[in-house]
Amino acid sequence: MSLLFPALQAESSQTALRFGDRSLSYRRLASAAAVLAARIEGMGRVAVWATPTLETAVGVVAGLVAGVPVVPVNPKSGERELAHVVADSAPALVLAEPDAELPGPLAAVPRMDIEPDPDAAEDGEAPWGLPPEPGEGAAALVVYTSGTTGPPKGVVLSRRAVAACLDDLEDAWQWTADDVLVHGLPLFHVHGLILGVLGPLRMGGTLRHLGHFSPEGVTRELTSGGTMLFGVPTMYHRLAAACESSPGLVRALAGARLLVSGSAALPLPDHERLTKATGQRIVERYGMTETLMITSIRVDGAPRPGTVGVPLPRVDVRLVDESGERIADDSPDTVGELQVRGPSLFTEYLNRADATREAFDGGWFRTGDMATCDADGYVRLIGRKATDLIKSGGYKIGAGEIENVLLGHPGVAEAAVTGESDDDLGERVVAWVVPADPLSPPDGEELSDLVASQLAPHKRPREIRYLEALPRNDMGKVLKRQLRRPE
Ligand code: ATP
Ligand code: MG
Repeated sequence: MSLLFPALQAESSQTALRFGDRSLSYRRLASAAAVLAARIEGMGRVAVWATPTLETAVGVVAGLVAGVPVVPVNPKSGERELAHVVADSAPALVLAEPDAELPGPLAAVPRMDIEPDPDAAEDGEAPWGLPPEPGEGAAALVVYTSGTTGPPKGVVLSRRAVAACLDDLEDAWQWTADDVLVHGLPLFHVHGLILGVLGPLRMGGTLRHLGHFSPEGVTRELTSGGTMLFGVPTMYHRLAAACESSPGLVRALAGARLLVSGSAALPLPDHERLTKATGQRIVERYGMTETLMITSIRVDGAPRPGTVGVPLPRVDVRLVDESGERIADDSPDTVGELQVRGPSLFTEYLNRADATREAFDGGWFRTGDMATCDADGYVRLIGRKATDLIKSGGYKIGAGEIENVLLGHPGVAEAAVTGESDDDLGERVVAWVVPADPLSPPDGEELSDLVASQLAPHKRPREIRYLEALPRNDMGKVLKRQLRRPE
């Protein structure tokens, strides 16, 4: 494998990272990372208190440079989650920005402050050389999954996996050293950290992090040199709404080279609103902590909204039916579980040998996501096997397409569809709706009729339940396991 970060070795004066008004050139990042790397070298694993700051990025890069696996920790985790992550990953040390207050479960872990070395001379000699890179199979990161379907699992990712994924994205998105990426994603998941921080560094480009996402921040950064934007669907939803009153935002989005959405399904109505306002197609990509990126719309391919694009060059995918048989390539409408093979796959779940074994079917990783694949290789996600596939009256119904129809109704702000056990049908379709105007929620019959008129009659929700907001995690993913029938 080539070096993970060639640009870091080159020590150029180009800006690598900017968070708010603080930035680091490649030269200074290399120097800061080398200093920290020398202090943690040889340790088993280090946790990084992953606030959206320059310090976090420096801490992670230092771990990668030192060959010490890094565990990014969600600074908003509850005490229980934090205790689980600390006990599970057993870090030798926690790296944190100097003024961070670390909560109870981290108290017993030795702490080291991250100094991004702000005073280093811009054009002086880098005082420290980078150590030689470890082998490509070595663990680079332990990233915890989003915890959408259960407690987060620690996923061990090798340097090979990280490099393979980023090289695939370089190809699919024509991502170069000239790109200036803008995002406001958290830095403890694959999306914000591996794609959003390590991506620009591997390309030799620049990241400008918003600190916290806001449409104003996106407008500012995209109009002052930003070329790409990464976001989750809840961010694009907010951008679509903000476009209505902000011509500056419309211009900023229209001028971007690439707008990328991932981590959850981008509702079609949001995509259409953004396209109408800005003329841009959003590039949707699909991946998991365990596999890194699997598919993407390609810059040089057809856009196809509603699909997550085609498999990335280094990734093999197949669809498998319930009996484990491979679904033939010439049956584009047959839904199956998506399985994945390739160099970007994880090494193992930390401390969970059984779960690791069960996750594989031969060399293929079972994603737990249900999909179809058309003759051109475009993958359409139906939803997760565990929560989004409703078995009703002998039919298999995907929650996503019903959610998209509901979201197309002007009175609906948010929608989630679940299956609930039913004596007659096995499961019945239930829709959870957040009204756009809580004082005049749309009529339930009208919503159910809308679904039945646009989709097949068996997809008609049997019940509509109204909520003030959907339960979501920090990536904006709907926590369907928390949607339970009111007692
Ligand atoms: P946990 O595994 O802890 O339950 P999680 O699966 O949400 O949480 P991640 O690894 O962060 O944790 O997310 C991967 C999942 O996110 C995928 O399996 C898929 O269901 C969903 N996903 C990612 N990108 C997309 C996308 N573009 N469209 C729809 N779903 C997506
Ligand atoms: Mg998962």
